[in-house]
Amino acid sequence: MFLKRVEMQGFKSFADKVVINFEHSVTGVVGPNGCGKSNITDAIRWVLGEQSVKSLRGTTMTDVIFAGSADRKMVGMAEVTLVFDNTKRSLNSELDEIEVTRRLYRNGQDAEYLINRNNVRLKDVVDLILDSGLGKDSLSMISQGNISSFAEAKPQDRRAIFEEAAGVSKYKKRKMESLAKLERTKENIDRTQDILSELE
Ligand code: ATP
Repeated sequence: MFLKRVEMQGFKSFADKVVINFEHSVTGVVGPNGCGKSNITDAIRWVLGEQSVKSLRGTTMTDVIFAGSADRKMVGMAEVTLVFDNTKRSLNSELDEIEVTRRLYRNGQDAEYLINRNNVRLKDVVDLILDSGLGKDSLSMISQGNISSFAEAKPQDRRAIFEEAAGVSKYKKRKMESLAKLERTKENIDRTQDILSELE
């Protein structure tokens, strides 16, 4: 699956709308320290459903909204859109191009997720990308410090890394969800049987 474009407005250091087009080759982003290079990968992870404020290098989620600078006032909303080329149908959709958007308002209004400009739930975004290998915890994004933590990881944590790379973890997640559903169904059957035996 190919990420064609990232559009950001009001996200971290990007007060004005910034559009980054990726070509089918290696793209390098260069710039002085603190100019916002890592903010681009933060933006990508944020749209993919990142909920950990710490991993987005903030203290509250609204820290991702442009907070103002010497010559610019703060803004009230952050919006980032990822545009994927889906001609190879890596994402579970019949559309050739898929836009995934996340918005957050400073006034505490609920966060919004959109797929092709239609409001959806976070779960819909996670489900859409689960099979593509691009989840927020996937190894398609390696942040600064990741390499040393892989090298220093405990054997069981390293196994989880290999499972993620091999694509096993999504099946584990689905198995856990199915087992939880089975457990709830079993409880419902027990409850129904209790009621039935009271009625008999
Ligand atoms: P380095 O090369 O040192 O890793 P970088 O180019 O990756 O740096 P980032 O870490 O992406 O830089 O960006 C940090 C900059 O983003 C800082 O100048 C910080 O003030 C700015 N920044 C982060 N959050 C916000 C925000 N909410 N509003 C305005 N600016 C922000």
